[in-house]
Amino acid sequence: MDEAAAFGLALTIAIVVSLIVIAVEIHNLRRTIREVFFPQGVTRTVRACPYCKLQMSAEATICVFCRRDSTPWEQRQGVWWRTSEAGEEYFDVDSNAWMTPTASS
Ligand SMILES: [Zn+2]
Repeated sequence: MDEAAAFGLALTIAIVVSLIVIAVEIHNLRRTIREVFFPQGVTRTVRACPYCKLQMSAEATICVFCRRDSTPWEQRQGVWWRTSEAGEEYFDVDSNAWMTPTASS
């Protein structure tokens, strides 16, 4: 094998190994993106921003889109609470609606 042929073979092997490494890295990156942005078994509660109406995390105080402050929802013993003009309300899963707590509670 002359020098040029040996160089060509080494270059071909280097390119093939590089393509395999790149394919593995793309596969790992896709899996990481899937795990971070679409986690299994995790439900992320969102609410609409009162100003720009885009979806934001229910517990966030600052909207990532318009950067304005709003009162976050708060989870107490598995129940979501929010503060509106009407005062404190809790989310009733059975009726799928916001309820005002009764005076006795
Ligand atoms: Zn907003």
